[in-house]
Amino acid sequence: MLVMMLENKKTAIINANIFDGYEIIPATSVVINDGVISQIGGKIPSNALIIDAKGSTLLPGLIDAHVHTSLDSLAEAAKFGVTTELEMMGAFTEQGRKLQLKGKNGLADVRSAGMGLTAPGGHPDELMPSDKGGIPDFVLKKMEKMSEEEKAAFIAAHEEDSQDETGDLDTTTIEGVVKFVQKQVSNGADYIKIMIEEGTVLNAPNLPLISEDVMKAAVDEAHKHKKLVIAHILTAEAAQTAVNIGVDGLAHLFINRPDWTPRLIKQIAEKNIFVTPCLVLNSSILGNNACHIAHDPRVIDKLESQWKDTMCSCFNTFPEGNMQDNFDNVIDLHKAGVTILVGTDVSVPVPSLGGLAHGVSVHHEMQFLVQAGFTPIEALRSATSEIAKVFGLTDRGRIFEGARADLLLVDGDPTKNMSNSLSIESVWLNGSLQIN
Ligand SMILES: [Zn+2]
Repeated sequence: MLVMMLENKKTAIINANIFDGYEIIPATSVVINDGVISQIGGKIPSNALIIDAKGSTLLPGLIDAHVHTSLDSLAEAAKFGVTTELEMMGAFTEQGRKLQLKGKNGLADVRSAGMGLTAPGGHPDELMPSDKGGIPDFVLKKMEKMSEEEKAAFIAAHEEDSQDETGDLDTTTIEGVVKFVQKQVSNGADYIKIMIEEGTVLNAPNLPLISEDVMKAAVDEAHKHKKLVIAHILTAEAAQTAVNIGVDGLAHLFINRPDWTPRLIKQIAEKNIFVTPCLVLNSSILGNNACHIAHDPRVIDKLESQWKDTMCSCFNTFPEGNMQDNFDNVIDLHKAGVTILVGTDVSVPVPSLGGLAHGVSVHHEMQFLVQAGFTPIEALRSATSEIAKVFGLTDRGRIFEGARADLLLVDGDPTKNMSNSLSIESVWLNGSLQIN
């Protein structure tokens, strides 16, 4: 790739194969100016910095529709061309973003559900091995590395969260969950997350659940505030509950495949519910690590060692299940017309939450979708334009004039060979070229 340095702020990427988030378009050049895509095709401005991308494909920055993240993780994601992460429980609500992202560069953008609605002692408590003042060990470890200012911002954001989690709200009652939803909305939650997890496939059976009528009241309240509701489910049974209470999306794919699965899929399609399968997570739950992805020569040098260790490990809490059921479930949903979004459920670098890493797992997920029967173009749509459409992110997920310049340039053509998405040459975040 040839880069000619010129003294100006316009960048022109020329001679590229361009996937615009939906299809390959005839134009072969894109001009970036002041953080946005200012021009597609046409005459290249004479003062632009030229990047000759012959043999490469330009894509919209990828989006991960299911994460739990941090400042470090947002930087990891950006390295792999994942320019937006959607947190499905965490601290990066509008308020959290104001506190934590101020003055920071080189990070993927983020949206968040704030706290997830769960029963007292319910999921994900079982994944947190120890607790000190409501702050898990891995967070305390991370805080040791923070500056005083970062620590103060983090604690402030966390205290907001703990009040939601442990305050006087009783999430087993309609009154309690309505207030819970209102609290998330006032904290600037971008959408609402509900946990429907009784624990079987996480090796934690009999986790407490909120009753269906109470959950439904929470969904109705979220809809009053025009917020999407996304349910955590891992089984067909929990997915059926999610359908019953009227959620907008499923944050996972059901890992089992009972004989009434066709009826469930029909209802999901009829109710226009989107699904973020997180096949990378289900694969890990089934006992598979993702070491081959971590050791891909295009990946290995970019991964911190703790993430390498995490990818080479796995949940392994439901070894009796099988991946073919998951492939069948996702392709049947796709064929029924259900919108499928790329997500990973990556969180922190802990081996017991293994098989996942920020950014790179998005590429792994697209490979899984192709293995299930998607075309590479369909998998790429699921990681770009489809997510933007569902979540109302109107400035990204596609390459169009006026879009935020979140871009990924890769060697070869991932619309023909999915694996090429990992042959990353350049990443632009909001118009600025990232040098790793
Ligand atoms: Zn999650």
